[in-house]
Amino acid sequence: MNVPGLHKFLFEGCAVRGAVVRITAGWQEALRRRATVGEFPLPVRTLLGEMTAAGMLMQSSIKFDGALILQVHGDGPLKLAVAEVKTDYSFRATAKVVADIPPEARLSTLANTHGEGRCAIVLDARKRARGTQPYQGVVPLHDDARAPLEDFSSVIEHYMLQSEQIDTRMILAANDEVAAGLLLQRMPSTGLGNLAACREEDLVCYHEDFNRRALLSGTWSREELLGLEVETLLHRLFWQERLQRFEPAATRFSCSCGRERVSRMLVGLGHAELQDILAEQGRVEIGCDFCGQQYHFDAVDVGEMFTPARDHPPTPTTLQ
Ligand SMILES: [Zn+2]
Repeated sequence: MNVPGLHKFLFEGCAVRGAVVRITAGWQEALRRRATVGEFPLPVRTLLGEMTAAGMLMQSSIKFDGALILQVHGDGPLKLAVAEVKTDYSFRATAKVVADIPPEARLSTLANTHGEGRCAIVLDARKRARGTQPYQGVVPLHDDARAPLEDFSSVIEHYMLQSEQIDTRMILAANDEVAAGLLLQRMPSTGLGNLAACREEDLVCYHEDFNRRALLSGTWSREELLGLEVETLLHRLFWQERLQRFEPAATRFSCSCGRERVSRMLVGLGHAELQDILAEQGRVEIGCDFCGQQYHFDAVDVGEMFTPARDHPPTPTTLQ
């Protein structure tokens, strides 16, 4: 039976954990909704799918209540790509494309044409204290030898090793039907105590545990990840292992946009700009970049946006 969603597991008897994610209906819904305000080119859809799968896998491996946001800030035709995954595995994703993208474009062509592209990993806690900033880590889209990274999974592996000192193996794949990924991580070495005090053979074993499984996972192809059910995938790869499985978690598309948020964003454009749009088009129309939801504001709505709150009571319009 294929249970779509997020499947976490531990390898019994060694310090390696893993997760597999397959998002099907939710991913298709995300693409369908986005298409209503403009479909992204295929390489961007693929990258967004991989970023979403990566966000799910990372969210599953940390104890954190809030939104994990992956952002690629590009210096090429892809200016920005964003995938947001919340603690309940609801997600949304979008991108900003500023020039034509060849159909076979990979990460460096998309977002790292001048070596300036970077990826930000943001943790925005649900109960973040007012005035404090979310945690943010940033990594370039190239390796230590400045060779451009062509897979988003390599960017995350690099980040996990550099910033978190956690050996990580990640495989990602996406098409218009499925966004999928596998994560293997060496667990923090609490069981071993102080690494420096460990016997050398214990350490060798500790590293071998992860390396051997990471190597095995390398035999998975993207096609398998996209086409096979989770149970088949895990069996094929780790049939010799004893896995401790956890209850699978459902994933779903969800957008947190709303009229009030859009209104606040429009205020940032300034009164004059909005008046120009009103004069030209009669109303301000804006579609959510994530879910395609359309919002309309007429002259009265725009007038209210720039009226100090104390001068008028909240109306149903501003409460939506
Ligand atoms: Zn939305």
